Amino acid sequence: MGSRREFIEKLTVSAVSLPILCGPTSLFAACEQPYNSPILRVAIMGLGGYGTRVAKAMLDCKRAKLVGVISGTPSKITKWQSEYNIPEKNCYNYENFDRLKDNPDIDAVYIITPNGLHCEQAIRVAKAGKHVICEKPMAINAEEGERMVKACREANVKLLVGYRMHFEPKTVEVIRMRKAGEFGQPKFFQGQSGFVIGNPNQWRLNKKLSGGGAMMDIGIYSINGARYMLGEEPIWVTAQETKTDPVKFKEGIDETIQFQMGFPSGAVASCLSTYAMRHLDRFFMTGDEGWMEMKPSSGYGPIKGRTHKGELEQPHITHQTLQMDGMSRIIFEGLEPIAPIDGEEGLKDLKIIDAIFLAAKTGKKVKL
Ligand code: NAD
Repeated sequence: MGSRREFIEKLTVSAVSLPILCGPTSLFAACEQPYNSPILRVAIMGLGGYGTRVAKAMLDCKRAKLVGVISGTPSKITKWQSEYNIPEKNCYNYENFDRLKDNPDIDAVYIITPNGLHCEQAIRVAKAGKHVICEKPMAINAEEGERMVKACREANVKLLVGYRMHFEPKTVEVIRMRKAGEFGQPKFFQGQSGFVIGNPNQWRLNKKLSGGGAMMDIGIYSINGARYMLGEEPIWVTAQETKTDPVKFKEGIDETIQFQMGFPSGAVASCLSTYAMRHLDRFFMTGDEGWMEMKPSSGYGPIKGRTHKGELEQPHITHQTLQMDGMSRIIFEGLEPIAPIDGEEGLKDLKIIDAIFLAAKTGKKVKL
């Protein structure tokens, strides 16, 4: 039997050499290892619903800490300062946040504002020399996404997208199984992503701020899920749009879109994205040797799922806590998640969304 030291050494080597989240066991073993990287010091931009959720989740992070805020509402800043012990010097508004460049106590800015603002905000953050973490969708079209990738590359900062499912243990396990060939050749993916959206006056139904309707907000989970579950990039899309409420869902705001994607191996995906139906949060994938089903598949959890081998038993851990600890390791240790979360990954989804909108409008098959 090897010594405890040999055991720890082996564990440390595997923690560094394996992908960051190649399964819950290694995830937690890795997280328990002593490490010398600094804590990722994060400022959140946009103190709304999801920003609040991320801030709360970060209280349990071991490798990341909320240290700053950027908001247009002074009363929110004061409240967050007292709740999260944020010093005055780390508080900014949308006019003055370029001054982040003079603040050595913030490493990254997490942009959690309406989609239509992400691009310009990300470029300003990159120019201030800070790593950019941006919520999904990364931007409202591929042209914007490309500008963001370029700006971050030129500024030599990382660009990461808030794809929290790439850190979720059951999802990670299914991706691991697929990579290990346990489903055989993946053949078919089905994604259903939707909910009934409320207030007609919210930014999510305003084209300039949202870039689109359900597809930008929730349909993107089926697009991204199809890609990480099948392990391929689509080469064509077709799409059909249905609109039952043209007053609420104006021009450019999609209510419901069914879409199909074809992959180089011959695998296909059939997906539904909607703002008008309840209980739609399900992924299914079948290969020639096995299958998986997850329902819910991309909500805040607990995620539930099973495969041809049985129930997925991985524990539920707050997604955003795992995500922010994982992002810290990606930024400081250069580790790779099991499915990418970088700007190029965000851009791939945006190119597919552009193609889906074009296919829905023209009724034609669009090649990617
Ligand atoms: P929200 O409306 O709750 O919050 C948006 C925040 O942006 C508010 O604090 C608002 O004051 C601020 N803001 C700044 N400029 C604004 C402007 N010009 N118009 C409107 N608001 C402005 O929205 P949210 O649900 O927090 O969504 C924010 C981002 O987070 C979106 O990109 C959304 O897609 C993403 N999101 C991701 C997840 C996820 O699970 N990854 C979940 C929810 C939202």
